[in-house]
Amino acid sequence: MKKRLGVSFTHTKFQHYWNWFTTEDLSVDIELIELSFEKDNVKDIHTCDGFILTGGIDIDADLYGGETDYEYKPDTFQKERDLFESSIYHYAQLHCLPVLGICRGLQLVNVLEGGKLLQDLDRYNDIHRISTTQDKYHDIFVEENSLLSDITKSNTGTVNSAHHQAIDKNELGNNLKVNAWSGTADGTIEGIEFNDKTGKAFMLCVQWHPERMPDKEESPFSKNIKESFLNEIRITQMKKIHVINPATEELIAEINEDSLQSVADKFELLKQGQMSWAALPLQKRIACIEKFYALLDTYKDVLANTLTAEMGKPLQQSYNELNGARNRIKYFIDQSAKWLAEEWVTSEGGTKEKITYEPLGVIANISAWNYPYLVGVNVYIPALIAGNAVLYKPSEYTTLTGMHIQDLLYKAGVPVNCFQLVSGAGAVGEMVLNLHLNGFFFTGSYRTGKYVAERVATHLVPCQLELGGKDPLYVADDVEDIESVAAAALEGVVYNNGQSCCAVERIYVHEKIFDRFVKSFVAQAKKMLIGDPTAPGTEIGPVSRKEQLRFLLSQVADAKEKGAIVLTGGNVLNGKGFFMEPTVLVNVDHSMKIMKEESFGPVTGIQKVSSDDEAIQLMQDTEYGLTAAVYSSSFERAEKIMNKMNTGTVYWNCCDRVSATLPWSGRKHSGLGATLSYQGIRAFVQPKGWHLRG
Ligand code: NAD
Repeated sequence: MKKRLGVSFTHTKFQHYWNWFTTEDLSVDIELIELSFEKDNVKDIHTCDGFILTGGIDIDADLYGGETDYEYKPDTFQKERDLFESSIYHYAQLHCLPVLGICRGLQLVNVLEGGKLLQDLDRYNDIHRISTTQDKYHDIFVEENSLLSDITKSNTGTVNSAHHQAIDKNELGNNLKVNAWSGTADGTIEGIEFNDKTGKAFMLCVQWHPERMPDKEESPFSKNIKESFLNEIRITQMKKIHVINPATEELIAEINEDSLQSVADKFELLKQGQMSWAALPLQKRIACIEKFYALLDTYKDVLANTLTAEMGKPLQQSYNELNGARNRIKYFIDQSAKWLAEEWVTSEGGTKEKITYEPLGVIANISAWNYPYLVGVNVYIPALIAGNAVLYKPSEYTTLTGMHIQDLLYKAGVPVNCFQLVSGAGAVGEMVLNLHLNGFFFTGSYRTGKYVAERVATHLVPCQLELGGKDPLYVADDVEDIESVAAAALEGVVYNNGQSCCAVERIYVHEKIFDRFVKSFVAQAKKMLIGDPTAPGTEIGPVSRKEQLRFLLSQVADAKEKGAIVLTGGNVLNGKGFFMEPTVLVNVDHSMKIMKEESFGPVTGIQKVSSDDEAIQLMQDTEYGLTAAVYSSSFERAEKIMNKMNTGTVYWNCCDRVSATLPWSGRKHSGLGATLSYQGIRAFVQPKGWHLRG
C-alpha cells in the first residue's frame, strides 16, 4: 500500500508544491493527496502519513491575539483554511507524523504552538517583502546542532523569499527553536523545528519556498529537505482500518488507526483542556452545541451519504437518524440549564443546604455502529454541556461518521482539547479502558459491555452500559386493525436492516388472531424492497458485516432443525453485498436460538400463545431487559402486562422508538444506567452537598 503525503491546498501557486515531487521522487510507494479547505475533505487527513502546510494568505489575527487592523492586511482572512490546517497540524502531532511547513505553514505552526507573528515587515524591507511578480533572494545562516543543519549539511546558503509576515522572535511558540536566520541584519527567522524532539516526529518549517527555487534540483535547501521529508514518510508505520461498503463490498477508505501513544496523548490533551471548558459559563458551552445542531443540518447530505456508504442503512433512514439526533440535541439544549442548576434544599434555620452538580472530568464514549449519530449524541452532547471533555471511540464500522462528528464539533467551537476521537477496533478500545478516565459510557453488545464493566471496575468511576436486547412484541386478540399492527411490527423488525437495539426480535400473537396476523405479516414482508440502500424507496439494505450473514443463517438453520417453518426469506441474496432476505419463521419455541439470542438482522420468529399469561411468561423468558411492546385495544389489559415486564422501556400500541424526554435504560443484560431525559443529563455530573452555617 502506498504512503500518502497530504498537501494543503492554497490559492497561491499550488502547482509548484505539487510538481516539486517528481515521479522519481515519489517512486512507487508514495502518492500525493490534496487536502483542501475548500473541498473540506477532512476525512482524507486521517488517511495520510505526512503533511505539507503551504504558503498563502495571512493567518487570521484572532488566532494569535494580534491586531486585526494592520498595514497590508488581506481583504478577508480565510478562517476555514486556518481551522482546516489546524486540524491537519494537531492530527499530525497527535499521531507523530512528519510535517513540513513552508512560509505561511511555518507561521501557522508557530501560532498553533502558542507563538505570535510580526504582522507586517517594514514596508521598505526590500529583502523579504513579497512582490507581485518575483521571489527575492538573500542569504541565511543555519544554526549548528539543528535538524536543518543535519539535513542541509550547510551553515549558510541562499534562499528565495516572498512574504510580508514573519515569526515575532520575542514570541516563539512553545518547544520551538530557530534553526535558521536571515543573513541580513533584520533578524528575520527563517526556519523552526522542535527544541526537545523526544517523542516527536519530523517537523521542519522554513520561511522560504524550496518548492520553487530555481536551483531546487541542486540546492540542499530544497533537494535535501525534500528527500529527508519523503524518507520520513516512508518509515511511518500507521496501521489502517479498512472501511468497506456493505452494499458493494468496495473498499471506500483506509483510515489511520490510533496507537497506544496517540491514545495516551489524546487523553493528556483532554485533561489539560477539561478544566477551562468547565470554567466557561454554561451558556457558552450550550452555544457551541447550538452551532453543532445547525451544522448537522447544513451538512446533512454528506453526513447521510457517508453513513449509508459505511454501514448500509437506506439513505432515507440515515436522514431520519440525523433528524432524530437533532431532536435529542434540542432537548439537551433546552433542558440542561434546569437540571444542572444548583438546588437550595434548605434555606431556613441555622444551617443552609444546597446541591451543586460538577462535571465528572474526562469521560470515554465507546460507541456502536448501528445508530452512530443517535447513540453518540446521547453521551457526548450532555457530557460536553455539563463541562466534561470526551474521548470518543466510534465503532470501527462507522469511523468516517465519527470523523465528521468530530470535525463539526470543532467547527462549532468545541476546542480540540475537549473532544478527541480515537480510531480503531477492540484493541484500541482496550487502550481506552486502561486510562484513568473519570467515567466510561459504552454502547454495544452484552459481551463487550460486560467485559468493559469488569475491566474498569477497579477505577471506581461511573460506568454506564447501553447493550443489546431480544425485545418481544405481543399482539392481543382484541386489536382492531390486524393489518396495521402487522405493518408496525414488521417495521419494528426490519427498520435499520433489523439492526436496532430495540428492534422487535420476537413476536407473540394470541391464537384467536394468529393466522390472520401471520398472513398479513408475511404478505407485507414479501413486498419489501431490498437492495441498493442509496436507491429511492429501498426499505432494506445490507447488514453491516459479512460475519453477520453467517450468524443469521445459523440461527435460521438451528430453528429449522428444531421444527420451525420458514414462511418467507431465509436466504442471503446472491451477488455483491451482505443482503439477508426479510425472514419470517413460525412453529418456533424457546428451545431455538432465534427466540433467545439477539439476532440483529431482518429476521423474526412468530409464536402462537393462548393467553396473556402465557405471553407474559414467554416475554419474560430472556436474559435481556431493554423494551417490550403490547398491542391491544385496552389500555388496562396492556398495562397489566407492561407492569410485569422487567425492562427499561414499555410500549403500548407502538414499538422500536426512543424519546429524548424519557430515560433510555436497559436492565439485566441490556445495560446499566440511563441516558436521555433529565437522568441522562445528571449522568454526566457528580453532586456536591453544601452545609453552610454563618
Ligand atoms: P460491540 O460490542 O461489538 O462494539 C461496541 C464498541 O466496543 C465498538 O466501538 C468496539 O470497537 C468496542 N470494543 C470491542 N471490543 C472492545 C474491547 N475489548 N474493549 C473496549 N472496547 C471494545 O457492539 P457493536 O456490534 O458495535 O454494536 C451492536 C450491539 O450494540 C448490539 O448488541 C446492539 O443491540 C447494541 N446497541 C445497544 C444500544 C442501546 O441503546 N441499548 C444502542 C445501539 C446498539
